[in-house]
Amino acid sequence: MGCNDTRKNNSIEQATIRVLAEKGEEGILQPELWRKLRVESKQGLRVLQKMEKRCFIRREKELHDGRWVYRIYPKRLPQQITSIVDCPCFMCEESSRCDETCVTSPISCKKLTEWLMNLAGQPDVTSETTPQAKTHASKKKKLK
Ligand code: SF4
Repeated sequence: MGCNDTRKNNSIEQATIRVLAEKGEEGILQPELWRKLRVESKQGLRVLQKMEKRCFIRREKELHDGRWVYRIYPKRLPQQITSIVDCPCFMCEESSRCDETCVTSPISCKKLTEWLMNLAGQPDVTSETTPQAKTHASKKKKLK
């Protein structure tokens, strides 16, 4: 996947988060999302599957006008979901290679950890002084 594809996918992720924040608990039908974002279903689906793996969204099948389609819901409340728009993953050039089974992984990512700690209003655990830091550090070592 090229750099342009990664940028395009990241902007689709951000736009999806914004749409879901607007829609709230009602969610949005997948075909409606493609129309709103003007993306092709194949590309949009790849992005949604990645967002689903990261637990940003959930998808549920529903019968709509006689056809089975997916409705997409935010996994967090709308007021919380707007706070993840600045998640480093959305602007990250490593995003297409990042997976919990790879060397580049959300488990060992310092940028993501720092962002999550800021979000939670806690000090950065990567300084390895807290029990969480030790768990985080040992996960990092296992990955090496
Ligand atoms: S977890 Fe880290 S490396 Fe992976 S996409 Fe997010 S910011 Fe990039």
